[in-house]
Amino acid sequence: MTGGGRLVFLSATPAVLMLSTSLCLAQAEAPAITAYIHNICVKHFHSIPITDSEVDDILARATAILAQAGQNNAACGDLSLKRRDSVTSFTSEFPERIRDELDFTQIKQDPCLKVVKRILWCGTLLQSGGALGCAPVSGTGFAVVRRYPGMPDAWNTSMEPITWLHELGHTLGLSHNDVDSLALMAAGIDVGNRVLNGPECRVFAGTSVPAAAPLAAQAAILPAEAGIDLTQVEKRDRDKATRPSLQEFIRRPHSRFPQEEAARYAGEKLLAEQLLMDPKYRNFANNIAATLGVIGTRDTIPVLEQFLKSEVHRPTEADITARSAATLAIGVIANRLGLPVDDFRVLREAQNTDFWLDRLEPTPPSTNQPPDLSEPVLDAADVESASEDLAVQAYRGYAISGAPEVLEEIKKDELENDSAAIPEPTKKRNALAIEEAIELHRMSKTLGASSVFK
Ligand SMILES: [Zn+2]
Repeated sequence: MTGGGRLVFLSATPAVLMLSTSLCLAQAEAPAITAYIHNICVKHFHSIPITDSEVDDILARATAILAQAGQNNAACGDLSLKRRDSVTSFTSEFPERIRDELDFTQIKQDPCLKVVKRILWCGTLLQSGGALGCAPVSGTGFAVVRRYPGMPDAWNTSMEPITWLHELGHTLGLSHNDVDSLALMAAGIDVGNRVLNGPECRVFAGTSVPAAAPLAAQAAILPAEAGIDLTQVEKRDRDKATRPSLQEFIRRPHSRFPQEEAARYAGEKLLAEQLLMDPKYRNFANNIAATLGVIGTRDTIPVLEQFLKSEVHRPTEADITARSAATLAIGVIANRLGLPVDDFRVLREAQNTDFWLDRLEPTPPSTNQPPDLSEPVLDAADVESASEDLAVQAYRGYAISGAPEVLEEIKKDELENDSAAIPEPTKKRNALAIEEAIELHRMSKTLGASSVFK
C-alpha cells in the first residue's frame, strides 16, 4: 500500500543557530544553541475531522511542553513541532483503525501521523478496549485517536499534545520510562505526564540516539501504545493501604489493563455484573467487562452474553470498546476455569458481522433517548466497520479460551479459507486472523489467558 506524496514526517535538517558569533569566538567552550524543528504532516480518516488550525494548536501546546522540560534540560529548550503541509483526509488509502498487525504495517508505510477511529491492537491485544496512540519504536508513521471512549472533551483536548509527543518519542527510538510516573514516556499517560529527562530531551533534539535502544531490527517492528493509567493515584492508594471503590476503579482509563488491581475486586463480582448492565456506567463498560474477565466465574458468562446480545441505540465508540472488551473477557474466564465450549458459544455467533449489525442501531429510537453521552453517535458506515472489528474480537476471545474443541474449529476454518473461492485480499486477511488465533490459543493454553495481553 502506498501513501501518496512523499511527505516528510520528521525534519532531517536540524537548524543549528550560532546566535552570537562573537560570544562563541570569545568562549570556545560555549555550546551551540540548537533549534530543532520536528515537522509533522497529518492525515485523518475522513469521518474524524481535524483542521489545520487544530493541528497548529496541538503542536503549539506540544512545543510548550518541551519548553517547560527545557527549564531543567537544555536540550529540550529550543525544540518545536510545526505542521508540514495542510492536513489531508483519507478513505481507503490507510486503515480507518488499527485492528491487527496488517493495519499497523500500512500505517507505518507512510511517514505522516494518522488520525484513526480506534486502536484495538498495538503489538498485543488491548484488554479493556483501546489505546490513545500506537507507534513503532524507532521508525516513522504513527496513529492516534482524538477521543478516548468515555472520557470528557476537556480531557481529550488536554491529552492530544501529550499523546502526539509520546508517540513521536517512540518513533525517535524512545522506549517507555518506567521510573518516573509523570514522565511523558511513561507507559501509562495522563494529563500530568509532561516530564522529560536529559537523555530523552537529547533524543528529541536529535543529538543522541536512545542509550538503551533495543536491537534495531526488533525495535523497528515493535510497536508501543500510549496507555493511559493514573499510575500516581494508584501508587498513593497502595501507600495508604486502601483501595478505590469498584466504581472509582472502573472509571479510570486504562490502556494496559491492570489485571492485578482488578483481582482485588473478586468479592464484588455481583456488583460488577450489575454495573455492566447499568446505563449510568455505559461509558465505563469496557473496564467493567475487563474486570469481570479477571474476577468472573462460570455464572458471569451469561451476564456478558446478555450484554453482547443487548441492542444498542445510538451507539458510541464507548459502546464498541465495551463490547470488544466483553468478548475477550469471556475467553479469559473460559480459559481460567477450563470451561466447555458450549458455555461460550456466543463467541462463535459473534464472529459473524451480522450478529453486531443486527444489534447496533445507528438511528435514534423514537422514545427514551439515552442520557447525553457527549460522544458522537456512530453513523451507518461506522457501525459497519465496528461490526467487522467486533467479529474479529469475538474470534480472538474464542481462541483465548484455549479449549481443545476451539483449536479444532480454527483448523477447520483454515482448511475452508484455503479452499474457498474468495477474493485474494480477503483470503489473506482471514489467513492472518486464523494464524493469530492459533497463536493466541497456544499462548493461552500454555501460559494462561492473561499472557496474551502482555
Ligand atoms: Zn508508549
